[in-house]
Amino acid sequence: MTDFKPHTVWLVGAGPGDPDLLTRKAERVLALADVVFHDALVGPGVLELVGPGARLVPVGKRAGRHSRSQAAIDRMIVAAALAGQRVVRLKGGDPAIFARTAEELAACRAAGIPVRICPGITAASAAAASLAVPLTLRGEARALTFMTAHACAGEGADIDWKALADPQATLAIYMGKAMAGHIAHQLIAAGLDPATPVALVENASLPGERRFHSRLDLLPIAARSVLGHGPAVILIGPALEAARVPQSGPDLASERPLAAGAP
Ligand code: SAH
Repeated sequence: MTDFKPHTVWLVGAGPGDPDLLTRKAERVLALADVVFHDALVGPGVLELVGPGARLVPVGKRAGRHSRSQAAIDRMIVAAALAGQRVVRLKGGDPAIFARTAEELAACRAAGIPVRICPGITAASAAAASLAVPLTLRGEARALTFMTAHACAGEGADIDWKALADPQATLAIYMGKAMAGHIAHQLIAAGLDPATPVALVENASLPGERRFHSRLDLLPIAARSVLGHGPAVILIGPALEAARVPQSGPDLASERPLAAGAP
C-alpha cells in the first residue's frame, strides 16, 4: 500500500489526459495530498481525483510561455514539504520523460525531503495505443528514441542526425510542432527514406484527440496544416506503416512533398 507521510513529496505521472490512464498508485497519492502543484497539460478529469481539502496550484508551462521558472517551482515544492504537507508534483505523462524531474529531485534531496516517483503513461505510448500500432516491430523497428524538438532550437545544437535517421527504429518527437520541418529535412538529408511512415497525434487520449498519417517528406506540411493548439507527438518509422488506415483530417497524400535538400 502506498505510504504518504507529511513532510514528503511524490512526483506523480498524470498520464496523457484520460483519467482512466492514471495508475492506481497515482490516484491514491492524489487523494491523500495536502497540496498538488500541477502542469498545464494535466487533464481536468485527473484533477477531479484530488481530495476535497487539498490545495491545487497550477505551475504550468506551455509552448515557451513559462508561468513560473523551474527554480520557483522547486522552491514551492520544498517549502510546502518543509511546512509539513504531503506534496504532490503532478506532471503530464511520465515524470521520467521531458519533465524536469532531475531538478525537483535534486531540490528535495538538498533540503533533506524524502521524494518518490510514481510513473505515468507517456504521450508516445498513448499515441501508439490510439493509432492501434506498436512502437517496436520485430525485425523492423528495433529501437525507440524519445526526442525533444527543443534540442534542435539552440544555436549549434549538437544533434547526431545520422544516428537518428535509423531506418530500423521509431522516433518519438515531443514538443515538435514548430520544428517539424527542420526535423524532416535533417532526417532526409541524413539518409532516411522520404517515404518513411509518420503519424501525428494531437491531444492523445483526450476528447479532442486527432490522428493523422503521413510520410516523412510531407511532415512539414502536415504539422503546419492539420495540427491545432493541443499538445502533439510525432512518431516516425516503419512501425507506423500500420497506422495507414482512414483517419479524420485532410488527405495529405496529394500535397507537394518536401524535396530532399530543400530548406
Ligand atoms: N512527461 C510528458 C512529456 C512532457 S513534454 C510525457 O511523458 O508525456 C510536453 C510534450 O508532450 C508536448 O509538447 C507533446 O509533445 C507531448 N504530449 C503531452 N501530452 C500529450 C497528449 N495528450 N497528446 C499528444 N502529445 C502529448
